[in-house]
Amino acid sequence: MPDLRFEDVSITYRTAGGGVRGEIAAVRGVDLTLPAGGTLGIAGESGSGKSTLAMSVLRLLPGNAQLTGRVMVGDTDVTELSFGELRALRWADASIVFQGAMHSLNPVRTVGQQILEALELHVADGWKTEAARRERVTELLRAVDLPPLKADSYPHELSGGQKQRIMIAMALACEPEIIIADEPTTALDVIVQQQILEMISRLVTERGISLLMISHDLSVLASACRRIAIMRGGEVVEVGDALEVCTRGQHPYTRQLADAFPTIGDPASRRNPVTRRTRSDAASDPQQSPMTDEVLLEARGLSVTFHSRTKSARAVKDVDLVVRRG
Ligand code: ATP
Ligand code: MG
Repeated sequence: MPDLRFEDVSITYRTAGGGVRGEIAAVRGVDLTLPAGGTLGIAGESGSGKSTLAMSVLRLLPGNAQLTGRVMVGDTDVTELSFGELRALRWADASIVFQGAMHSLNPVRTVGQQILEALELHVADGWKTEAARRERVTELLRAVDLPPLKADSYPHELSGGQKQRIMIAMALACEPEIIIADEPTTALDVIVQQQILEMISRLVTERGISLLMISHDLSVLASACRRIAIMRGGEVVEVGDALEVCTRGQHPYTRQLADAFPTIGDPASRRNPVTRRTRSDAASDPQQSPMTDEVLLEARGLSVTFHSRTKSARAVKDVDLVVRRG
């Protein structure tokens, strides 16, 4: 099983905005190692170069990007691979779950067909026959905690969290040695985020896969990774044991990041907490507009069921809800 090493990696984008040519140094002199079977998180603010670094592993950078240094998967320098060799590396050695990947599902094909396609791209010995591949799709859906029946669903019939699970099933399809997860839970609610992170942690541990996980949220990384690197302005400013970095980070920027993100598992400190405000709270707080009796939205016993030609799915069941002004 290979490790993944970034050796003095710098990546520059050439830009030509408004007719003015320029260069953006997105990644600058990065040295990082993900040991075989290990977990490494990369945190950093928006634009700090996290996705750019991740894309370099599978050479998915756009044409205006220029890379110097070496990206090693085991003894292989990815930057020197031919196109054919690179295709062999993708999916089978390393696969990636992108930022907002669920939006890249094909809307007119069932998710089962799309997982099959990922398998067919790389017909490894075990899945040469159609029957073996179908069985593999069922196994993958179970692995990501989805009922096998969901194989027949189209993307629009699934929730965001379910779609992201499908993307993870696709990434697992060819039994990669390394999974790169770039903001795998952005845009999902906190509970679903946590379920998916726990699932990723479980899968990589069970299958001995190495995980490179990227997020701007330190608490997300701390729950899935043993080591964490902090990027700022394209550079790694700190790297170490996850807990050490989160609780005793040395770099002032790490402290800022840690303070900005409360722990995901701690309900008392969730971001955007949904607080219940009572009438007496409102009355005792002169800054707030008082709660009135005016009902803005009311639902009683609300149920919503989606029907397609072949099946039905209940999305909302017996919900009572009243929203009053204030
Ligand atoms: P986020 O948390 O928002 O996803 P990030 O850390 O992943 O941010 P990158 O997407 O790697 O950041 O971008 C790093 C820098 O490179 C940014 O300044 C960005 O504007 C620039 N950049 C990214 N892609 C391109 C591109 N195709 N062409 C030119 N510049 C780019
Ligand atoms: Mg990014």
